[in-house]
Amino acid sequence: MTAAGNALVEIKNLKKYFNVGRGAVLKAVDDVSLQIMEGETVGLVGESGCGKTTLGRTVVRLYEPTGGEVLFEGKNVHKLQGKDLRAFNRKAQMIFQDPYASLNPRMTVADIIGEGIDIHGLYRGKERTERIYELLNLVGLNKEHANRFPHEFSGGQRQRIGIARALAVEPKFIVCDEPISALDVSIQAQVVNLLMDLQEKLKLTYLFIAHDLSMVKYVSDRIAVMYLGVMVELASSDDLHRRPLHPYTQALLSAIPIPDPETERNKKRILLEGDVPSPINPPPGCRFAKRCKNAMPVCAEKNPEFKEVDKNHFVACHLY
Ligand code: SF4
Repeated sequence: MTAAGNALVEIKNLKKYFNVGRGAVLKAVDDVSLQIMEGETVGLVGESGCGKTTLGRTVVRLYEPTGGEVLFEGKNVHKLQGKDLRAFNRKAQMIFQDPYASLNPRMTVADIIGEGIDIHGLYRGKERTERIYELLNLVGLNKEHANRFPHEFSGGQRQRIGIARALAVEPKFIVCDEPISALDVSIQAQVVNLLMDLQEKLKLTYLFIAHDLSMVKYVSDRIAVMYLGVMVELASSDDLHRRPLHPYTQALLSAIPIPDPETERNKKRILLEGDVPSPINPPPGCRFAKRCKNAMPVCAEKNPEFKEVDKNHFVACHLY
């Protein structure tokens, strides 16, 4: 599960289970491994409930893992303490799906952005104010916005404030958790372009979580596809779109509209049949088996191993 370069984040056999009462266990993330290289964007896609947000939150320590580990710059993030923990809390940030819910409505934009600067003692006084203005500028806002409150902004502007807040502590790595899903389609591309510009300018590394494969293609170097808590495919963005191997990825891709009407007419859509099984006490075998048009007897019995079937192209499916 590697790509060229140095791994900034190494997710190793990560598990995050939740006890949901009466002995039932929700296996939100179940043995997922992934490396994220410095300067890279890895897109993480799957339907809602597949565990992608839980994975992102566990990586930045919002959750303790049930098993496995997450290394950041070689250190286990869930064992960090003192100075190392403070450094990690600066270097790893998260941008949330709903910019309104994630911004304190009683704080001004300057206070929201300044909070991290203060916690980490980065700037004081005039320098702090200048830094806040600089961050507003960086995300396409301006200093006149500093003393306003979140409700005075549009959804797109609020997400820009959320991005400025994340950047305030000079991170290296950002988990972008569906950062555009709650925005109007007309402004989604603007926010994505901003994130890409910032990545280049500030040499950032992203884990970009989304349910929309078309947007992920545009931003990602590599794409990881999750289904019911497990990773089913991982490849470069180009490879995954040119030659999707897993039947689930094929179905996700077939659902993306193509701008050319002629191609769109000739395209075969793969309809996913059957209900999404519950991640609570999932059945043995391949978790996609109930909806898979290629399912074989072995699929209901044996969990397919996640393995490299082409150079840097990994898949978990008994067809390969
Ligand atoms: Fe389909 Fe079997 Fe592959 Fe699962 S392992 S995706 S059921 S063919």
